[in-house]
Amino acid sequence: MAATDCLVVGGGIVGAACARELARAGASVELLEARHLGAGATAAGMGHLVTMPGVPGELELTRHGVEAWRGEADELKRVAEYTPTGTLWIASSADEVELLERQRSTFDGAGVDAELLTRAQLAVLEPALSDAARAGLRVPGDAIVYAPRAAHWLANQSYDGRLRVRRGARVSAVGANWAQTDDGRRFEAAQVVVAAGLNTRALLPGLALVAKRGHLMITDRYPGTLRHHVLEIGYAASTHADNAVSVSFNVQPRPSGQILIGSSREIEVDAAAEDPAILRRLARRALHFLPGLKDASVLRAWTGVRAASPSGLPIIGHVRLPGTQGRVWVAAGHEGLGVTTALVSAAILRARMFGGSLPAGLERIYAKDAA
Ligand SMILES: Cc1cc2nc3c(=O)[nH]c(=O)nc-3n(C[C@H](O)[C@H](O)[C@H](O)COP(=O)(O)OP(=O)(O)OC[C@H]3O[C@@H](n4cnc5c(N)ncnc54)[C@H](O)[C@@H]3O)c2cc1C
Repeated sequence: MAATDCLVVGGGIVGAACARELARAGASVELLEARHLGAGATAAGMGHLVTMPGVPGELELTRHGVEAWRGEADELKRVAEYTPTGTLWIASSADEVELLERQRSTFDGAGVDAELLTRAQLAVLEPALSDAARAGLRVPGDAIVYAPRAAHWLANQSYDGRLRVRRGARVSAVGANWAQTDDGRRFEAAQVVVAAGLNTRALLPGLALVAKRGHLMITDRYPGTLRHHVLEIGYAASTHADNAVSVSFNVQPRPSGQILIGSSREIEVDAAAEDPAILRRLARRALHFLPGLKDASVLRAWTGVRAASPSGLPIIGHVRLPGTQGRVWVAAGHEGLGVTTALVSAAILRARMFGGSLPAGLERIYAKDAA
């Protein structure tokens, strides 16, 4: 019998959330992280906690995800810059106004609070937006969080000594109840969970994850420019589109007063170096909606890589190890919603591993294994 109940490989936001959830369920857990907690995509993303309709199940997954973070808002405000900005979706054409209206009725049907705004109402709520924003849809329950700090907070509590974090543990191979690091250490446990972001595909060849690189940039401090996380309605469709490169207006006011400007998607690109042409497209799109940023100075730009699953939903389940009868648990493939859905992913994993009910609306999707 292994002395530890669960090994979790990967201490991004998803692995940290899973490790905490399993420890809170009473399991002893070792979290093996190659670098430091919140490295990987978690450090690169925007941390927008957004309720998003998309492929079937995505609305339920994100709604539960946003609600789960909101349930811990008091503590998260203190430790991870949780800010209840809400989301403002904007439309810039008649077709997009129709899309906003459709999204509003989808939200209505799911019990998500959302309010349509005319151009005049938008001008009052967010005066920095140009006339290109013809209408808006405000979702007041959405928020933002600083994801790397949230990952630290999730995994750095000991849960009565049941959760142990091992930094600098780069796992090179996994089996049904073991993980081996590249410096030759071997860890054993009754169950193994792989939550290594895009690197999950190196540990579990055969798991089809697609890399989607994104660019972001951040300005100097311009407090009061925006109150909401604002993004164009076309962003939702771009997350599952298969065009090689897409750029959408997706902008977040940081608590520091800085403006975080996104975002792009490039399929199967995972190089770290920024592409100046994409940065120019991001800037042009931002200026189209926020012309006042023309004199803003950009302090830093960077890239990060999202790991997308073929279904568009995260893979959370028990998968067969190639060439053996053994299985390991996986929580990966969260694409651009891994922060939003980290806590609900952990709840799904816990229900699958230890029994208990799956979150409402997700029973059919997650009752069986995805791969
Ligand atoms: C540009 C961009 C913008 C985004 N914006 C948002 C947003 O606004 N809202 C949102 O919800 N999501 C957003 N995302 C997506 C979100 O960041 C990811 O879905 C999420 O961070 C995935 O978390 P993860 O823990 O699965 O993976 P990662 O964060 O990549 O973590 C994986 C961890 O595993 C470790 N690891 C890897 N291999 C090994 C190994 N062999 N052994 C041990 N450890 C290993 C890594 O060091 C890392 O710490 C964005 C992503 C990008 C790139």
